[in-house]
Amino acid sequence: MTSPAGPLRALSLPPRLNPLTSRHVAVIGSGAAGLVAARELGREGHSVVVFERGDQVGGTWVYTPKVESDPLGLDPRRAVVHSSLYDSLRTNLPREVMGFRDFPFVAREEDKNRDSRRFPGHSEVLEYLKEFAKEFGVEKLVRFETEVVYVGLVKSSDNFNKWKVRSKKRSGDEVGEIFDAIVVCNGHYSQPRIAQIPGIETWPGKQIHSHNFRVPEPFRDQVVILIGSAASAVDISRDIAGVAKQVHVASRSIAIEAIGKQPGYDNMWLHPMIKSAHEDGSVVFHDGSVIMADVILHCTGYKYHFPFLETDGTVSVDDNRVGPLYKHVFPPSLAPWLSFVGLPWKVIPFPLCELQSKWIASLLSERIMLPSEEEMTEDVKMFYSTLEVAGTPKRYTHQMPGLRQFDYDDWLAIQCGCSVSEDWRIKMYDSASKRKRTHPETYRDQWDDEDLILQAHHDFTKYFPNGINGY
Ligand SMILES: Cc1cc2nc3c(=O)[nH]c(=O)nc-3n(C[C@H](O)[C@H](O)[C@H](O)COP(=O)(O)OP(=O)(O)OC[C@H]3O[C@@H](n4cnc5c(N)ncnc54)[C@H](O)[C@@H]3O)c2cc1C
Repeated sequence: MTSPAGPLRALSLPPRLNPLTSRHVAVIGSGAAGLVAARELGREGHSVVVFERGDQVGGTWVYTPKVESDPLGLDPRRAVVHSSLYDSLRTNLPREVMGFRDFPFVAREEDKNRDSRRFPGHSEVLEYLKEFAKEFGVEKLVRFETEVVYVGLVKSSDNFNKWKVRSKKRSGDEVGEIFDAIVVCNGHYSQPRIAQIPGIETWPGKQIHSHNFRVPEPFRDQVVILIGSAASAVDISRDIAGVAKQVHVASRSIAIEAIGKQPGYDNMWLHPMIKSAHEDGSVVFHDGSVIMADVILHCTGYKYHFPFLETDGTVSVDDNRVGPLYKHVFPPSLAPWLSFVGLPWKVIPFPLCELQSKWIASLLSERIMLPSEEEMTEDVKMFYSTLEVAGTPKRYTHQMPGLRQFDYDDWLAIQCGCSVSEDWRIKMYDSASKRKRTHPETYRDQWDDEDLILQAHHDFTKYFPNGINGY
C-alpha cells in the first residue's frame, strides 16, 4: 500500500508559526475516546464527523440489560451488544483520578438524581460523559445510529491519499464519504476472549462470557466456576456468591497459599486453572481437585476487533497485538492519517485518551511533527524486542501495568507542550490500586488518602472558579 505522502515526514522541525492546517477527520465511536478525540480535533480547527452505531454517546457506559443470543459471543452472525457492564458495577478508580484532566469528574452533590459516591455506579459515569459532550459541543458532531462498515485508502484526483468511509444508517441507507484522516475509537470490550479448556466440547453444563453477565439471579442455587482474576472477575464472583450454591474461582495467577476457601465467604473457593472438563459434568483443576459444576463463567477479557478497517495488511491484530503501531497510536506508514485512541489497558483511560487525542490533533494540524517513517518503524521494532526479551507475550503489548502508564502519558504531554501528570493523580492511583488488591470488599467505601483528595480538589478549582459544588 502506498503511504500517504505529505509534509509531515520532516524530522524534528520547530513548532510552526504559520496558520494551522485544517483536516476533514472521521472519528469512529462516541465513547470516552471518541468524545475527547472530537473535542481535541475541533479545538485544533479540524472539521470532524463522529460516527456512532448506538443512539447516544457514552459507549461502554451505556448500560443495557440486553445480552447477546450466543452467551459466549462466538457466533459471528449474532447481533452485537456493545456494552459489557453489569448492573451492580461501580467504578474501580476513584473519580478524581478517573476524569479528564481539564473536566474533572466531581460529585454533583446538589443534584439528588446523581450518585455522589467517590467510586460511583455506572450511570454516574454516563452522566459525566454526556455533560462533557454537551459542555464542549461534541454531541452535535455525532451521527447516531450510523455504523461504519468500511474504511479504506483511496487515491484522490490531486494524488493525495485519502480515506473512504462507508457507513450504514439503522434505516439501511449506506453512504460513502471521503476524509483526510481516520481516528479509530471503537472500544475494545465487546469481542469476548474465552479460555481454551480440554474436553469442553462434551461438557454438558452452560457456558457464558462476562460480556453477557448482567445480574446474579440466573445463577441462583447453581454451582458456578468463574475463570479470571481481573477487576470484573473479582466483582462478579462476589455478586454471584450472594445467590449461588457455590462459586469456584479459577485463575492462572493464583498464589498456592491462597488456594482453598475464600475468607469471609461460606460458598466461595479459589483454585488454580482448569485442566480439563468431562462428559459427566466434572471439571478438574491443575491441583487435582474436582468439582461437579452447572456453569462456567469466562471473565477472560476481550479481543481488539476492527471489522471495518481495510489496510491491505498494513495494520493487523496478531494474538491481540494491534500493530505495527508507533506509541500505540499510529501505523508508521500511514501516520498521522490513521490513528487509534484508547488501546492501552491497565490504565486510567480518560486522561490517556485525552493526551493521545491532543497529540493526534496537533500532528494533523502540523503544529508538531512526527519522526520519519523509518525512525518510527525502528522504535516499534525496539519496543517489540524489549517485550520479547522480557518474556512478555504478544497479547500484553498494550498493557501498561503499575505506574508505567504515567511515563507514557508524560511523553505524550511533552510532545503536545502540555503539563505532565499531576503528582496527586499518580499517588492516588497507586494507593487505590494497592487498596483494591488488599481490601477488594471495601476499597470503594473506605480509604486513607484524604490529603490527596484535598490536593486534587485544590487543583480542580482552576476549572471551577465558583467552587467545586457551585460550578
Ligand atoms: C466492565 C468494565 C468496567 C470498567 N470500569 C472502568 C472504570 O471503573 N473506570 C474507567 O476509567 N474505565 C473503566 N472501564 C474501561 C472503559 O472501557 C473505558 O472507561 C472507556 O469506556 C473506553 O472508551 P472507548 O471510547 O475507548 O470505548 P467504548 O466506550 O467502548 O466506545 C466505543 C464506541 O464506538 C462505537 N462503535 C463501535 N464500532 C463502531 C462502528 N463500526 N461504527 C460506529 N460506531 C462504532 C460503540 O457503539 C461505542 O459507542 C471499564 C470497562 C469495562 C468493560
